[in-house]
Amino acid sequence: MTGRIEDRREEWDGPVPVPTGATVPFWAGTLEGELRYQACECGHRQLYPRAVCTACGAEDPPFAESDGVGTIYTYTVCHVPGEPGFADRTPYVVGAIDLAEGPRLLALLDAEPDALEIGAAVGVTFWRVSDKAAIPVFVPK
Ligand SMILES: [Zn+2]
Repeated sequence: MTGRIEDRREEWDGPVPVPTGATVPFWAGTLEGELRYQACECGHRQLYPRAVCTACGAEDPPFAESDGVGTIYTYTVCHVPGEPGFADRTPYVVGAIDLAEGPRLLALLDAEPDALEIGAAVGVTFWRVSDKAAIPVFVPK
């Protein structure tokens, strides 16, 4: 599945990911609206991307495309910005999202805090924040 991409390059003043090493294919995918995770031949699936499989140690586990849907494992409402660039967007919500394929990732949740609950279904969208990266942001389904 391809997620919607919003171009936020003009207004974004938060942290900008710099693709390096094992994360290059991941960030390349985000520019196409694809959420990629690593699916090792041993069966382990992981995200964020790493140079080795954390289960068996295989190098450069291959990438697979997620459907971009999952559930909220937990979340926190941030009233004090963790990054200077987030100062004017509080309160904002950061969640741990369990993808349907298995991996869990931390991401922004673009929703009113009162509308969220643990276990709720969410889908991925992307905010393009640079020429090289679009950050995954989840919204309630
Ligand atoms: Zn493995």
